[in-house]
Amino acid sequence: MSGVTSALTTAHAQLASAVEILGYSPGLHEMLATPRREMNVAIPLRRDSGEVVLLHGYRVQHNISRGPGKGGLRYAASVDIDEVRALAMWMTWKCAVVDVPYGGAKGGVTIEPREHSTAELERVTRRYTSEIMPIIGPERDIMAPDIGTDEQTMAWVMDTYSVNLGYTIPAVTTGKPLPVGGSLGRATATGRGVVHAAVAALADDGVALSEVRAAVQGFGKVGSHAAHWLHEGGARVVAVTDVDGGTRNDDGLDVPALLAHTASGLPASTFPGGTPVSNAELLALDVDLLVPAAVENVLDEETAQTVKARWVVEGANGPTTPEGDRVLHDRGVIVVPDILANAGGVVVSYFEWVQANQAYWWTEDEIADRLEHRMRAAYAAVATTAREQSISLRDAALTIGVRRVAEAHQIRGLYP
Ligand code: NAD
Repeated sequence: MSGVTSALTTAHAQLASAVEILGYSPGLHEMLATPRREMNVAIPLRRDSGEVVLLHGYRVQHNISRGPGKGGLRYAASVDIDEVRALAMWMTWKCAVVDVPYGGAKGGVTIEPREHSTAELERVTRRYTSEIMPIIGPERDIMAPDIGTDEQTMAWVMDTYSVNLGYTIPAVTTGKPLPVGGSLGRATATGRGVVHAAVAALADDGVALSEVRAAVQGFGKVGSHAAHWLHEGGARVVAVTDVDGGTRNDDGLDVPALLAHTASGLPASTFPGGTPVSNAELLALDVDLLVPAAVENVLDEETAQTVKARWVVEGANGPTTPEGDRVLHDRGVIVVPDILANAGGVVVSYFEWVQANQAYWWTEDEIADRLEHRMRAAYAAVATTAREQSISLRDAALTIGVRRVAEAHQIRGLYP
């Protein structure tokens, strides 16, 4: 469980809100709240020292009514079954909001990856993959990177799965390296999609990206690319942080120089082009746009009071607790919710899966155009629903996602 409010509590509260708006029965509510299938696995790891330690891993398929399960694999010390359940549920609604033909799933291993060598992480990944083999596959459940995992992890998963079945099956994972069937544009897709969502939300108020000052929490796969695309779009990125704090420059950070700094393995906080800033300070900076792109529950009842930004665009999954959401709403802050704002990753994962299934690869421009089109269409549908029903963007996104999943259940009928 992470923080005072667990991610699962947040996910359940959000679903309850959508179910109330949609007027669904308690039975349907319970079905939508309950994971379809879960697997707990023990992962014995032989450390480089020869010592054997036992790790715990999970794969949760929250819903597979609209298609195969889809969702990331997280390596973090905070991972537990409830966190994975929450993340799997959010994947279900997210895939439905952007209308890709997937259900929602998520995986995790309770491990602090920074304390392990590459060889140990490879052994963990291969053992975890072979343990969950019975429930994954390109038509069953498709993995992607999340916190603590990357392209290399996805290559190991794909290789382990393929070697066990005797032939190469690139579509079992997305977010792979390009030489083994990855897609152009996947690595940057989530951050790029966050910026498409931000641009659309700003445009609703007649504001251009070039007019805003932005702060980004989390400088990993999502946050660093969000900062890059914000900078490219003309926004002034005044602060970024990672787990150890970060850097701030009120005149605007030199984002390309900062990316080069962190790419060389140095923490953002030591960037010479800024002054140090803590994670709590970043959330409270006097900016127009705040992008939480790290972990769950950072905007709670207390921290939400400190936010000065007019727009919060959620790059992370579940960064705002229900109490934090209420505070932001009461203070007139516009929140573009995670299941919409960070859906660019799963959209391009879907493109990668389609390309792998067809063994035919698209150009970078084709990917970028299709991503922008999907993000704009999804934002427009959510914003229209929010306006028409006088509800928040979060409730609008959730009701669209939840309704599409419930429709699939109703059309398919109940077996037996
Ligand atoms: P990552 O591991 O690449 O990066 C995580 C970043 O957050 C790092 O900079 C890390 O230092 C920082 N961080 C970790 N704990 C922190 C804390 N307590 N406070 C502040 N910063 C902290 O992970 P990522 O893939 O960028 O994922 C970030 C978030 O985005 C997660 O919520 C993830 O579920 C979500 N997300 C990721 C993708 C994707 O394509 N990778 C897609 C959709 C959503």
